[in-house]
Amino acid sequence: MDRLIDKVALVTGGSRGIGRAIAERLGRDGAVVAVGYAQNEPAATEVVRRITTAGGRAFPVRTELGTHGDAAALWAAFDQGITGYAPDGGVDIIVNNAAIGRSSNLEALTEAEFDRVFAVNVRAPFFIVQQGLKRLRDNGRIVNVSSGVGRIAMPEISAYCATKGALDNFTLNLAKELGPRGITVNSVAPGIVDTDTNAGWLRGNPEAEAYAAGLAALGRIGRPEDIADVVAFLVSDDARWVTGRVIDATGGAAL
Ligand code: NAP
Repeated sequence: MDRLIDKVALVTGGSRGIGRAIAERLGRDGAVVAVGYAQNEPAATEVVRRITTAGGRAFPVRTELGTHGDAAALWAAFDQGITGYAPDGGVDIIVNNAAIGRSSNLEALTEAEFDRVFAVNVRAPFFIVQQGLKRLRDNGRIVNVSSGVGRIAMPEISAYCATKGALDNFTLNLAKELGPRGITVNSVAPGIVDTDTNAGWLRGNPEAEAYAAGLAALGRIGRPEDIADVVAFLVSDDARWVTGRVIDATGGAAL
């Protein structure tokens, strides 16, 4: 409970799925957690409740990412929520997790869909970091939640894949830029994880479940906690010498 004591963490998309597991894990490790969400207020409130009930500290931050001015709006909401927890309004950990999880295939993809998936998955993290830099304390941590599709071809969702490739490249450059301040920047790349994003095609479909489990060398579908525990390591002091990397958390997919 004390690994992250005195630390403040922002987790975008912290209300559901992988982000929720990350928010709850960082809360258990002692951080004050800003739980980002877009629409689903009850889910965000529930995550805050679970963290505080367990003795942690958390508050919700509502912002629709992928819109112009989203980063400024997010930090304004953060500034409001952090009052009372950290008088200087500082942040130690930024986890860029929120994303649109899929995209149409090449033939069906529209320019509007392309713009939207890049706006949420790439532009938002970019400007959240840019505008967070003055708040981000030295020796801080940035974790970008990427995907195994940064290295594994999946042409049917190639626009989504391209956003994760772009995010990984942002990780690389940001690590170089922020290294002198002791700030580490890494991507975590999950494989198929049982979250709402995949519920429609995966849950309750034995064939799909067998397919998804078979992709991982470890032979099962990922759980949100599998990813959250890797993020918890990366934001801890134990990972102080790891930066600019994409940490594969696919259970060994496509080895
Ligand atoms: P999820 O269950 O669909 O949850 C998405 C979260 O992001 C929710 O908290 C949602 O908020 C928030 N969100 C979505 N769009 C947003 C927007 N425009 N603005 C602000 N918040 C937004 O997603 P997930 O499956 O956990 O995925 C989390 C991350 O892992 C993503 O970066 C995804 O690309 C990556 N990933 C997932 C998988 C997988 O198999 N699940 C695999 C590889 C990588 P609301 O609740 O308000 O909608």
